[in-house]
Amino acid sequence: MLSKAMQDAINEQIKNELYSAYLYLAMSAYCEANSLPGFAHWLRAQSQEEVEHAMKFFDFVNERGGRVVLHAIDQPPVEFESPVEIFEATLEHERKVTAMIHRLFELALEEKDYPAQVMLHWFIDEQVEEESNAGQILDTLNMIGDKGQALVMLNKELAKRGG
Ligand code: MG
Repeated sequence: MLSKAMQDAINEQIKNELYSAYLYLAMSAYCEANSLPGFAHWLRAQSQEEVEHAMKFFDFVNERGGRVVLHAIDQPPVEFESPVEIFEATLEHERKVTAMIHRLFELALEEKDYPAQVMLHWFIDEQVEEESNAGQILDTLNMIGDKGQALVMLNKELAKRGG
């Protein structure tokens, strides 16, 4: 059985993961509207991955006999300045999510909730990957600068993302 504190914190994280999905979908819409379909595709896949994160927490609460409570999700931004700004915001956002996951893990330690600790190991690993992916694309964008040809090539590269 989940403690009330753990259940409340995971329900909050379900909302946070769904906000991430919303944010990346908003970025994807911006890229669609600005003729960057490869970027739009990558961000849409990223959005879908965030829904899967939310559902992992959703399933965990249910499996542990807890009660899922869905909170209101904030509206994400509509406009972005450029692909560089999008990936700066993505990296910053993922760093915040990493801190959230680490706080959840600390709570699981305090509560001596061993199943939650095991479940959160997956998320701790996942955040290392999320920050690395966003950081690599941001580095590439910074190298590209205002070279349109290279941006077109990166747009094509990002269109290849599978899951
Ligand atoms: Mg996530």
